[in-house]
Amino acid sequence: MTNREACLAMDQNDGLASLRNEFVLPEDVIYLDGNSLGARPRAALDRARQVVEQEWGVDLIRSWNKAGWFDLPVKLGDKLAPLIGAGPGEVVVSDSTSINLFKALAAALNIQAGQDSSARRKVIVSERGNFPTDLYIAQGLAKWLDRGYQLRLVDAPDELPSAIDADVAVVMLTHVNYRSGRLLDMRAVTRHAHEQGALTVWDLAHSAGAVPVDLAGADADFAVGCTYKYLNGGPGAPAFIWVAPRLLPRFSHPLSGWWGHARPFAMQAGFQPCPTIRSALCGTQPTVSLALVECGLDLFARTDMRALRKKSLALTDLFIDLAERRCAAHPLTLVTPREHAQRGSHVSFSHPHGYAIVQALIEKGVIGDYREPHIMRFGFTPLYLRFVDVWDAVDTLARILDRQDYDVNAVAQAVT
Ligand SMILES: *Cc1c(COP(=O)(O)O)cnc(C)c1O
Repeated sequence: MTNREACLAMDQNDGLASLRNEFVLPEDVIYLDGNSLGARPRAALDRARQVVEQEWGVDLIRSWNKAGWFDLPVKLGDKLAPLIGAGPGEVVVSDSTSINLFKALAAALNIQAGQDSSARRKVIVSERGNFPTDLYIAQGLAKWLDRGYQLRLVDAPDELPSAIDADVAVVMLTHVNYRSGRLLDMRAVTRHAHEQGALTVWDLAHSAGAVPVDLAGADADFAVGCTYKYLNGGPGAPAFIWVAPRLLPRFSHPLSGWWGHARPFAMQAGFQPCPTIRSALCGTQPTVSLALVECGLDLFARTDMRALRKKSLALTDLFIDLAERRCAAHPLTLVTPREHAQRGSHVSFSHPHGYAIVQALIEKGVIGDYREPHIMRFGFTPLYLRFVDVWDAVDTLARILDRQDYDVNAVAQAVT
């Protein structure tokens, strides 16, 4: 049986253990929420100081050229690309995931409408349990376009094959579900979508930096995702958007701002899209925040997604095993799939008092989060978590449950 000493020994043998030193984490915290806001890379403070003191304070507007501010979205996209199976010049870091999803979905619908003179394809397929902003963006765009687009929502991934038929224009899915942690088979779903003539838009918010992603190998069409989760880019850091190179010549979206223009500083009255991935840009970015994304991305260059995946699965296996054994007397139900092929890098358990228990855990320094309904969510970032953290987190959880040491009347705060 695993004990705390065994967990310490696993940390001793962990080839990724030294990467933890590249992050700043409070001593008294076990941070299981890197799936929502990644921890701070040590380098981020110096980088922020450099941007604010030197690049802004001294170099002023010269920094657009001198410090490379203007090219940051593309430079960072190139650094991010290997983590998601993309190539250089295929990704930009810019705007938010919600906004990038709007662009990608609009572009996909536009390509489909152009091909389909009978305008037969009116369906956008997604999951009812998808992250709400994804569904809201699709609803908003469909309503705005006013061409009769319908959202077709499946309740479970096994309904996808029958839901994706010849009426479907776009399949818009999140690769790893934010609530359950379920990982979809991108390759199989994309193949089926293509057989039916549909395009795919993948949301990689809980995948980028968490699980190996192979957009090219899966022959995907569009992808978006966050940098502030597993990529540790900082609170509210700009997101990314990827367009398959074969679709780039036909890629156009309604947010045709000047940064997506072929020659932004020609200051012409008419919009001419840049022929590169820059056409996915809209306008000026929050440069301080954008610059910090690099600190998170640079750490991935010191390892690879295979090694990270191996440790991630070992951490989540250990957490599931310990929680189920030590909390067996309590109504704790595993929501996340046990099969490795279907698991992302977080683990969710439901409990009737989930919210109250998460609050009690946070009070004791074990930071996870809560998602409706009844779900306690624990993220495992292999870059900075130790096996002993898993042991200690379950130990705290078991004690809270055994002693019913939580306030069942806890009132939810604005952010859960
Ligand atoms: C976190 C998350 C988002 C967040 O979108 P923002 O525009 O950054 O608020 C979007 N989609 C999914 C699937 C997410 O998990």
